[in-house]
Amino acid sequence: MNTPAEPVPDSRFYTVDVDDRVRVLIAEDDSRLAGMLDALLRSEGFDVELARDGQRALHLGLTSAYGAIVLDRGLPALEGLDVLRGLRESGVTTPILVLSALGTPPDRVDGLNAGAEDYLAKPFDIDELVARVRALTRRASAVVPTVRFPGGRLDTESRTVTLDDGERIALSERESALLERLARRPAQVFSRALLLEEVFADADDPGVVDTYVHHLRRKFGRSLVETVRGVGYRMGSL
Ligand code: CA
Repeated sequence: MNTPAEPVPDSRFYTVDVDDRVRVLIAEDDSRLAGMLDALLRSEGFDVELARDGQRALHLGLTSAYGAIVLDRGLPALEGLDVLRGLRESGVTTPILVLSALGTPPDRVDGLNAGAEDYLAKPFDIDELVARVRALTRRASAVVPTVRFPGGRLDTESRTVTLDDGERIALSERESALLERLARRPAQVFSRALLLEEVFADADDPGVVDTYVHHLRRKFGRSLVETVRGVGYRMGSL
């Protein structure tokens, strides 16, 4: 049975959840299993989003924030381990639990080597899956103070950038907040309105976004923040 393609969400309108429900992405092409996991995780208090193929999973993983991703290894369009590699190469650190019908030890090692936090072989115990998803989302909510980007890393606690050549540069609170937001979602194009809402919520003047982009570029060079014409900004590289 064919289901119509789901509309692609516009990442410019991506917003941080205001309630406490943790969002989990389930990438699973077996619709019975996906439906069961969806119902089960919802009943456990998670917000669930489903992806039926690997392309969709990669797109959602790059453009939305999740507490954890449950990723089937055998997916159409793009296989699970390629989704995993694609996310990790783009700097997405969301904890990922790989599900697989292949449960042999080398298979498990493949998944962990590709950047998965956990691995569960099918058929699995449903309570065990929920327990592991819970553990992963708890780990994700622990603050990760260091964010890497091409050319350096930002320590969000000391608000210091350390360049790959070892040079350290101090940032103001707002510069750090803006750089962190861009660097944690390197594939996302942010509109000014979104950055205003997420980084400068207390400011009235939309021009504050351009002002702080300018500050960052003055400290690090123009290439640190890319301008996407007609849309907004995206993380660049040094
Ligand atoms: Ca599958």
